[in-house]
Amino acid sequence: MPVFDLHCHSTASDGVLPPELLVARAHEQGVDVLALTDHDETSGLAAAAERARELGIELVNGVEISITWGGQTVHIVGLRVDTRHSGLLGRTHFARFLVEEGHVKDVKTVFKKYLVKGKPGFVHHEWASLQQAVEWIHAAGGLAVLAHPGRYSMGKEKLRLLMAEFRDLGGEAIEVATGSHTPDQVPLFAAYAREYGLLASVGSDFHAPGEGGRELGRRLELPADCRPVWHNW
Ligand code: MN
Ligand code: MN
Ligand code: MN
Repeated sequence: MPVFDLHCHSTASDGVLPPELLVARAHEQGVDVLALTDHDETSGLAAAAERARELGIELVNGVEISITWGGQTVHIVGLRVDTRHSGLLGRTHFARFLVEEGHVKDVKTVFKKYLVKGKPGFVHHEWASLQQAVEWIHAAGGLAVLAHPGRYSMGKEKLRLLMAEFRDLGGEAIEVATGSHTPDQVPLFAAYAREYGLLASVGSDFHAPGEGGRELGRRLELPADCRPVWHNW
């Protein structure tokens, strides 16, 4: 059985390893299929894909989009997205424009300095909506995955509303085995996936070496009765 790790971060967002070193580390850790899912950013994918080709591991184009839902920030992962699709990342394009024009040193600084309420370049008060994120991902040919559902501070009822709305909007999968879940949450979210008719995804959510349970390729076994998001890849 190939090892899938469908959620991790490079220096293109808040990870510490550049994309090519991240891919090499995943390869060392025995990962066969890796999705790079930087926050609101796809600029690391080209370098990652090149290194993956050299090492013979499969790279999946991914992204992790922040949205606001029910007054909270929620993350939606897009897998197998076509990065040439211009609608994918609304305001990230604006951020990158400022960087490319030399106004600001990097995209992170743009978000911190400009894209917040009361600052000069402020565009939106909130992140995108759940519906927009699912639509962007689908328009780019990708699969929408609700990231680490066990990590939000929401009661059970609100969480159920989120999963139901996500499913009704056409979302395909939820993360079941992830470095952001406790061992008890894995069977719990496997059961939710079955109940809501969603596929199951796996991902370490790796950001940096030395984070134990979030190491690339670790703790990613799905319960046997889950239908994996890659079932028809
Ligand atoms: Mn992060
Ligand atoms: Mn996240
Ligand atoms: Mn993440």
